Amino acid sequence: MTAAICNPMHLETPVKVTISFTHSCNLDCRHCYASCTRAPAPRELTTAEWLAFIDYLYENDVIALLFEGGEPFHRPDFMDVVRHCARRFMVRIRTNGTLLTPALARELRQAGVGTVLVDVMGARAATHDLLTGVPGSFERALAGVRALLEAGVPTQLLLILNRHNVAEVQDWLALAHALGIRRVAILRLYPIGRVKARWREMALSLDEMTAALDALAVPEGLTLMHSWHPNDGNCCWQMAAVNAYGDSIGCTYLRELVHYGSIRTMPFLETWRHPLYRELRAGRVDQACPSCSDSQGSCGGCRSTAFAFHGRWDAPDPFDVTLNQGTDLRALPSWMLSAGPRPPGPAGS
Ligand code: SF4
Ligand code: SF4
Repeated sequence: MTAAICNPMHLETPVKVTISFTHSCNLDCRHCYASCTRAPAPRELTTAEWLAFIDYLYENDVIALLFEGGEPFHRPDFMDVVRHCARRFMVRIRTNGTLLTPALARELRQAGVGTVLVDVMGARAATHDLLTGVPGSFERALAGVRALLEAGVPTQLLLILNRHNVAEVQDWLALAHALGIRRVAILRLYPIGRVKARWREMALSLDEMTAALDALAVPEGLTLMHSWHPNDGNCCWQMAAVNAYGDSIGCTYLRELVHYGSIRTMPFLETWRHPLYRELRAGRVDQACPSCSDSQGSCGGCRSTAFAFHGRWDAPDPFDVTLNQGTDLRALPSWMLSAGPRPPGPAGS
């Protein structure tokens, strides 16, 4: 089938950027995409480098920043950066919640942070703590959520759907509702970072995921977001991300798969013009789900999972029921298990 350009528009510059502020963390999640270490690596961008980069983004009309990690609050200079930018951008922060105190939550509110997204990986401490590798992390995450809500910070819960928590997603919705959360998101498990080594243990088939999502009854007052059919967007056209070492990687789910240049050696907007980056933003895909294209305004689904399972950037996204074509999502291609994975053949060269 001939690939066609079908993403909705051409952007000269990104309007939002994800910043993986550190690849360090206080937890040891078996699902960690950043393969975090306890201490930040010396080659992480310094505070001054981050502040200069953020000023550059402001001067180039970026309007929204999403900070994540690693665990951003694990690096002691994070609040200096937040205070520097929270009134100039729409700022969101993704965190494991365990380092949030009532005083820190009030500081976030005063700084003007837009939304905090907290990873809570199950409805029960046993499930969450199994996944994070740290006993007590569930209760500490919930205490962080309560502190945020008490301080008046808009707060959402995130859950990465996997074999360990699939049976308790309904209870997780009830937990979010009981906490007073208004929006939650269920995310896919991506084959990147530490999770790759545990893929067989954690991954679900598409049927198992679809059945779990279809069975959910969302409590009144709670909004649930997810990225399965008919919400399978190809959001590459408007995505930008920089990791803790200053590498421009397009999207945090493309880490390990692309490298568009380092902001230490070239202006970020030059990396935005990298040929592969332009290609992914154009959205040349060989198949698209009509329902998802209609609802998302883009087509072909996620490029990260398409590449991971098919080794081609224009391949169909196997997480979409209309594009799956019998792909077993529990079985990762063996080439994906290597560091800096490249498929065999021309796509990997
Ligand atoms: S909390 Fe997040 S950053 Fe920390 S180890 Fe877990 S997945 Fe990685
Ligand atoms: S890799 Fe997937 S999640 Fe990331 S920007 Fe592209 S479509 Fe969106």
